[in-house]
Amino acid sequence: MSTLPPCPKCTSEYTYEDGVQLVCPECGHEWSADAPADAGDADKVYKDSVGNVLQDGDTVTVIKDLKVKGSSLVVKVGTKVKNIRLCDGDHDIDCKIDGIGAMKLKSEFVRKV
Ligand SMILES: [Zn+2]
Repeated sequence: MSTLPPCPKCTSEYTYEDGVQLVCPECGHEWSADAPADAGDADKVYKDSVGNVLQDGDTVTVIKDLKVKGSSLVVKVGTKVKNIRLCDGDHDIDCKIDGIGAMKLKSEFVRKV
């Protein structure tokens, strides 16, 4: 049984291995079998500004003043943010901040406590 992935270009299932390459006979596409077919978000690692790995429920502090989009509020440097939730996107931390409410932060602007 072949477990080769389908062609990423034309989705043909008749791909074959040629050394370290995978080759599609239908469209001629060649690609590396080592490259993950889908650099998925499943094992995305979230890191703070100094490289600590962040997890859901962590407490972090903000390392620079951050303006809250659509308001005149500012999250001051040093603000402690409890119980963060990691999510996909440009702003990858979902959280609630006292006095401000729910907002999103970038992991590069926080530091794990
Ligand atoms: Zn193909």
